[in-house]
Amino acid sequence: MIAIDGPSASGKSSTARRVAEVIGFAHLDSGALYRGVTLVALREATRQNRRSDDPLSVLDPETILRAAEDRGLMLQPDGAGFAAYLEGEPADAAIRGTAVTARVSAVSAVPVVREWVNSRLRAMVRAGRDVVVDGRDIGTVVFPDADLKIFLTASPEARAERRIVQRGEEPAPAALEAETAALAARDRADSTRAVAPLRRALDAVDLDTTTMDFEEQVRFIVDRARPIFDLPL
Ligand code: C5P
Repeated sequence: MIAIDGPSASGKSSTARRVAEVIGFAHLDSGALYRGVTLVALREATRQNRRSDDPLSVLDPETILRAAEDRGLMLQPDGAGFAAYLEGEPADAAIRGTAVTARVSAVSAVPVVREWVNSRLRAMVRAGRDVVVDGRDIGTVVFPDADLKIFLTASPEARAERRIVQRGEEPAPAALEAETAALAARDRADSTRAVAPLRRALDAVDLDTTTMDFEEQVRFIVDRARPIFDLPL
């Protein structure tokens, strides 16, 4: 099991997915489950004709988690990874929409939500250890016994530029400055929050990708994984 943790927009998910493809593991994106619970909360609030922009103010977490179970929120094996399903329908597009993105930090700060997500992740990994899991607390809380832990970082400026380019926009100075400030604020919030703050595991390998390209960072992790999992060269 490989755990990859790090701040927002550090490239964890895309790196984890590529590493998994190269070494024949499955990629499990823990953020997708937090996003899925957030989507359930938004839909449940709408269904109950409550204020849906802030579901935590109108629904208690137990109601949200019960709805997640009843409505079949799950990650199902799909190619080299897992795909999100809700109410029997693919939900990957919906969980990455702006409504979910705006609320997911608050939902993921609720302790019972974290316990629910963590037990799902552990059940999925128990089924097979050939998995690359990415998130914020994978190597510290969810899988402290992971065979390999990577702490992936990049400067806020580098992450901001990648995010802008990913959106298909020009990284003009004003846009870069605004995105860098937003990321730095989210880093501060994620590292100082009372529940599950972003921390580097003491036994994690640091990978600062500020000056690396994508294939270099993938190779860095694959090279460390080879002797641990006895992978062919
Ligand atoms: O990785 P992604 O950006 O999709 O994660 C969505 C959100 O879920 C993060 O902003 C973070 O608040 C939360 N999260 C978390 N712990 C994890 C994975 C994600 O708190 N292990």
